Parts: sequence; C-alpha cells; structure tokens
Amino acid sequence: MSNYKLGLQFAKEQDQNDALSTYRNQFHIPKDSNGNDLVYFCGNSLGLQPKTTKAYIDQELKDWAELGVEGHLEAKNPWLPYHEFLTDSMAKLVGAKPIEVVTMNTLTANLHFMMVSFYQPTQTRYKIVIESDAFPSDKYAVESQLRHHGFDDKEGLILWKPREGEELLHYEDLEAIMEAQGDEIALIMIGGVNYYTGQFFDLKRITELGHGYGCKVGFDCAHGAGNVPLNLHDSGADFAIWCSYKYLNSGPGSLSGCFVHERHAHDKNLNRFTGWWSHNKQTRFNMRHEFDVLPGAEGWQLSNPPILSLAAIRASLDIYNEVGMERLREKSLKLTGYFEFLMKDLGDDVVRVITPSNPEERGCQLSVQVKNADKSLHNRLTKAGVITDWREPDVIRCAPVPLYNSFEDVYEMVERLKALL
Ligand SMILES: *Cc1c(COP(=O)(O)O)cnc(C)c1O
Repeated sequence: MSNYKLGLQFAKEQDQNDALSTYRNQFHIPKDSNGNDLVYFCGNSLGLQPKTTKAYIDQELKDWAELGVEGHLEAKNPWLPYHEFLTDSMAKLVGAKPIEVVTMNTLTANLHFMMVSFYQPTQTRYKIVIESDAFPSDKYAVESQLRHHGFDDKEGLILWKPREGEELLHYEDLEAIMEAQGDEIALIMIGGVNYYTGQFFDLKRITELGHGYGCKVGFDCAHGAGNVPLNLHDSGADFAIWCSYKYLNSGPGSLSGCFVHERHAHDKNLNRFTGWWSHNKQTRFNMRHEFDVLPGAEGWQLSNPPILSLAAIRASLDIYNEVGMERLREKSLKLTGYFEFLMKDLGDDVVRVITPSNPEERGCQLSVQVKNADKSLHNRLTKAGVITDWREPDVIRCAPVPLYNSFEDVYEMVERLKALL
C-alpha cells in the first residue's frame, strides 16, 4: 500500500470511504477541557468504553437488586452459566475452538495457573525462555515459578535477545538457543505481540520449534487479542492468556481470557490448581462429591466469576462479533500503514519506527523512537491532546485502534508531534 498522500484532505477522504468509521460513535472518546476529542492512541494500554457497556452492567445490577441470590438461575442472563455466554465470541476472536477458551481471573494470575500445569520441571529440564524485553509482570511471574520449584531464577531463565544495536528479535537466534539448550528447556513463554516493539511473532513457528525439542509453549497475547489474527488453535500452542482491558475495551482491571489447546482438554491427570468452578457442573452443588474436573479450558476455573466484569466483556465482544477480525485487520493495516507513511515523512534523522515494517509482523501499534527526546516531549504531546505511552529512554508507543481511531486522528497526531519537534 504505497498510495498514501500527505495532507488533511487525504485523511478525510479515507474516513469517508471507511466502512468501519461509524464504530467510533459507539465509544466514549475522552475530551480535552474545551470539549474537543483527544487523539487517543493508548488503546494498547486501556481501551475506550463502548457506549453499550453501561446497559450490560445495569442489567445485572437490576437483576441483583430485584432477585438477590435467585439471579444465579432467574436473571435475564443467568449468572451460573454467565461466562459461557462469552465463550463462542472469545474463541472466534482468538481463532480457537470453544472448548479451548474460558474467561476468568486476571492475566498474571492465569499465567501462573497455566504454569502450574505446563511448567513441570525436572532436575535436568527446568529452564524457561522469554523475550528479553518481555512485559515486566511476565518476567516476574516466570522468575517466581523457577524459585517456587527450587531453581535459581538467573540460571534458569533464558532471554531471547535482540542483536547488538537492534530491537527486533530474530527466529534464528531462538533456534540457536534451542539447539544449544533445548533438552534443558521446559517452557517457552513469549508475548505474542511484544508490548515494547510491537513485533508480532509467528506463533506456529515458535510452537513447532519448542515442541520439536519436547518443550511446552505458551503465549501472552495481551497485545494480540483484538488486534491481530492469532489463530491459537492452529498455532498448536499449549496455552495462551490475554487481558480484556486493552484492545478488548472491557474496563480497567477486567478479566482475562485463557486458552488451553484441545489436546489437553480431557487430560484429567494434568497437574492443576482447582476450585469448585473447575468441577463438573452437574454435581458442583452437591458439595460433597469427589472432585470431577470439567473438560477443556473451563476445567482451570477456580471461583464463581465477577459478573459485572463479564458483562462489560460481553458488551465489547458483541461489537467485535459484529465487525469481525477480518474487517478490523483490513482497516488496521491501512490505518497503521498511513501512520508509518506520515512518520517516515518526518525524516529518519528525527524519528525512527522500531516496529517491524512488514505489516504481517505487527498489529496496529507503532513504537516510535524520537531522536534526542526525553519524557518532556511526551508531556508536551499529552498537553497538545495526544494520548500515547512513553517508554524510557526515548520511545513513544502509539496504537491507532481501527475500531475507534480515524485517519484524521493519525494525521492530527503526526501534525502535533511535528509542531513540537
Ligand atoms: C498488560 C500486560 C500485563 C498486565 O498484567 P495484569 O495481570 O493484567 O495486570 C501482563 N503482561 C503483558 C504482556 C501485558 O501486555
């Protein structure tokens, strides 16, 4: 796509021809003190609120007020099976089968629960591979798992690193790690889309590599879900987790999605932490029954889930269902391509996009390194009504989200940045 043009007129035309442009009206767009829409490029951190979310939550508040405990069975959307109402949409969104997906807990908690089952080290095979620029929570989680099993968290953690002077990761370097230490590695745990660089990894390639050496493979898809086509089932990954408050617009701290590959669905011997919600639904309320684990991802649930949070996720998934990931990705490729085009026009000596230039290897986010900049630039950008995310020492992470960002947003962002440089 090289037919982008400079100037506001081009952006306006693109918005007019964009079949998804009306979805912006379905979201609350934060405003400045004069009532003008902010340019919100932080959907990779906290997605915006769909206008329908309130009604979904109000429905559950109303049923709770009117029915009390009876709401578990008598609510318009009964709470007992409420999480099941999300499963088909969530599965479709991440390219999984319904039996492989459940919405529960929060992200880092799910990562730990997945490692209880899929990180089962022995004295000779105990190492874990992550990206060197993994999201801090993921790094802390895997380090604590190493310690929990009595291993040294420095010696047991292998970092897949960029080459000297680069930011992106090469598969050949992961292959070299596996060749050298493959039979000592128990788990490969990678961020499906790296939060810092925006690099979208080939999940299938990494999974096949890991499985070839007898390792388990899992992905943190916090920056992938609702952003890129993940095809989790076909990737063959053992597990994946993601949150719902970034691209999935379900509100601060909202629940996490969890994928467990179908090949593990009926394995009752797999070690796991359990609770009453992982137990057979038919006999769950007998309370005295021998534990009988549910098949599929649902068998990793512990507790009855927070319905108000599930309601917010449902509101968001209904929008995703209507749009579909294909159309969303199609717009995303154009929108981010346009953003890259305008950034390039600012000149290599001023800004450098560290995200892969190949659209297949990224989602909507571009991470932009600004030469000789410090955090004051980010503060001035915020004052100018552009909301982005700053990473030390000199990178702004910008996510034009195809559901609610416009081509004009992208144009405005670059114009305002240019004025500050
Ligand atoms: C956002 C994010 C987290 C945050 O974890 P929570 O448990 O939801 O607080 C963890 N890992 C990655 C890769 C993320 O992008």
